[in-house]
Amino acid sequence: MSGKLFSELQANVLVLSDSMFPLYVIRGEKNVLVDCAILAKAGEIEDKLAALPGNARIGMVLLTHSHYDHTGACSILQEKHGFEIIASQRTKEVLENDKAIAFIDELNQKFKKILGDVSNSVFTKPRDIRAVRENDIVPLGGGQELEVFETPGHTRCSISFLQKPERILFPGDAAGVMERNGSIKPLFLSSYTQYEASLKKLLALDAEVLALAHNTAIRGRERVKEFLGGSLAETRKLKGKILAWLSQTDDFGRIAEKILAEEYAAPTIMGPREALTINVTSMVKSVYHEFVKLP
Ligand SMILES: [Zn+2]
Repeated sequence: MSGKLFSELQANVLVLSDSMFPLYVIRGEKNVLVDCAILAKAGEIEDKLAALPGNARIGMVLLTHSHYDHTGACSILQEKHGFEIIASQRTKEVLENDKAIAFIDELNQKFKKILGDVSNSVFTKPRDIRAVRENDIVPLGGGQELEVFETPGHTRCSISFLQKPERILFPGDAAGVMERNGSIKPLFLSSYTQYEASLKKLLALDAEVLALAHNTAIRGRERVKEFLGGSLAETRKLKGKILAWLSQTDDFGRIAEKILAEEYAAPTIMGPREALTINVTSMVKSVYHEFVKLP
């Protein structure tokens, strides 16, 4: 590992440095970790936590959704820290399902291979998950609290957390992903319509900081608005492209390959190709079911 282990986003929010999976730690009466990256990163996350000034113990974990690259290191970290997990009811249900646990582990094992991790680490069922819903308040002590917003569309289980009073928004993948070159990739995997509605909901929150799950955070109310507005525009643009393809073929896999070749030539979020193909195929299906073949 080289470079800084962590940096400061705000006085009370640190970022555990990582080019693909930066993790946010909200500091207060207890440390709150936002999402858990992949299993292969568990050791590095521990090293970074150990380097934090003062208390390095994680007292609470927020899961924005149940995807393998947000939950992968969760069970290993929980063994050591014994934290409570805050998530949506749907994420809780997914993480209580044996088949889902096996699938999350399978994708994490593939990612370990890509990264050359030959350890025998496995993802197992996390414990102690508390379900939260729209407008629930999670007090953090010391005048800090989190408000919960249901933001489905990326997945059915997606929620966002708004830290107050500083208004730092943790959207998980509900706001899309910003590539290193600044372009925004939409991620409406479970529903286009819900994804668009969630983006509008996030826009209306007037956040001061947007703490994106991959690569970067955006500071300043105007810049946050600009990003979310841009994300909305890209989302609508991709829908248009998918609709154009769907007028020629209903072979979802083929459309996904075309889009992957065009748009995802150099993805920032390296991972199993399988996961990327699943993602794009899901977006094609969302548009098909919501705009072509009406239910
Ligand atoms: Zn995701």
